[in-house]
Amino acid sequence: MRLAVLKERGDFETRVAATAETVKKLAGLGLTVVVESGAGLASAISDEDYRAAGAEIAPDPKATLAGANIVFAVRTPAPAERAAIPRGALLVCTAGAHADRALVPSLAEAGIDAAAMELLPRITRAQSMDVLSSQANLAGYRAVIEGAAAFDRGFPMMMTAAGTVPPARVFVIGAGVAGLQAIATARRLGAIVSATDVRPAAKEEIRSLGATYIGVDDAESAQQTGAYAREMTDEFRRKQAELMLTTIAKNDLVITTALVMGRKAPVIVTEEMVKGMKAGSVIVDLAAEAGGNCALTTPGELTITPNGVKILGWRNWPGRIPVAASSLYARNLLTFLNTFWDKAEKAPKLPPEDDIVKGVMLTRGGAVVHPDFLPKQA
Ligand code: NAD
Repeated sequence: MRLAVLKERGDFETRVAATAETVKKLAGLGLTVVVESGAGLASAISDEDYRAAGAEIAPDPKATLAGANIVFAVRTPAPAERAAIPRGALLVCTAGAHADRALVPSLAEAGIDAAAMELLPRITRAQSMDVLSSQANLAGYRAVIEGAAAFDRGFPMMMTAAGTVPPARVFVIGAGVAGLQAIATARRLGAIVSATDVRPAAKEEIRSLGATYIGVDDAESAQQTGAYAREMTDEFRRKQAELMLTTIAKNDLVITTALVMGRKAPVIVTEEMVKGMKAGSVIVDLAAEAGGNCALTTPGELTITPNGVKILGWRNWPGRIPVAASSLYARNLLTFLNTFWDKAEKAPKLPPEDDIVKGVMLTRGGAVVHPDFLPKQA
């Protein structure tokens, strides 16, 4: 059985879906691992490292994918590479299926059995394969580091003979995996941190990290259950906006991480709120790739507003810390394969009734199988 690891070709993509460490373990399962030359370079893994771990190196996508039974990737390979994936192969990647409705039928047509790792159910058994969590955690850390670098004053309170530099005030919007890591990182650097989220459970999590909770307490937010936030009503948004206006004006850094699965990110920081910020303040928009939580974010760019506020709108935050991001992503994929590995057959066995399999499989045997993407009945 052959497992192919492609070099990522997407814009801003620096990660790779297998590391030397996971290649060794994949080979240990009895797989022949083929890595495209240069696949690991942006994550500091050379072809030599992969070879030493037991992989074969192939010069291009076609040679990498020839005879592949399993393909590991970070993003869905582009159509040109997909065309070289053999029919019946299992593709494991973050598919971005909700953002591209044409993708799932095209994968079915190509006979690719595609597992979309971003659709993994958030159950305990799946935690060690949860790519959204592993990547969000690193993104939250990186957001603070880059925000701190862009902030021209410093985070901790510094008392010197020449006088005192006040601590930075950081406000985190969305206290999920990324937001909680951002809170912890900003606290470690000495900032005064506050945060908000629509899920009531987040309140205690924010406080347990030593940050102040700021939020609209009403019946609607209390109804938020489950791991993902739902879209909120207009009334809730109005109340939230009032509170955000006053809170954002008082803070030096605003880190936004609010996402709603499968939808464009909610705009929480409006133009008016940005205008209320002091010159030199920084907004770090982790939701930029999903459109942005700030109305003035330009995805992929640094924006400096006329009142001197910097908005960091990078698209691929985990990709800005690629060595750690690849390491965790690669382990997530290895764990997924290991969980569904039939040792006797030396092949993956994906029981259709398994909750994890049901959650991630988009296509199988040439047909769309995921309930969110089934063709509409006439
Ligand atoms: P996410 O990336 O989908 O969203 C980030 C955060 O933004 C969430 O906390 C969300 O509630 C918040 N948000 C959305 N809209 C908002 C708005 N309008 N205003 C303010 N905040 C808003 O979420 P995530 O980080 O992937 O995880 C969400 C939850 O799932 C967390 O509680 C996390 O601990 C939990 N989780 C559980 C498991 C598991 O049990 N296996 C795995 C991962 C995450």
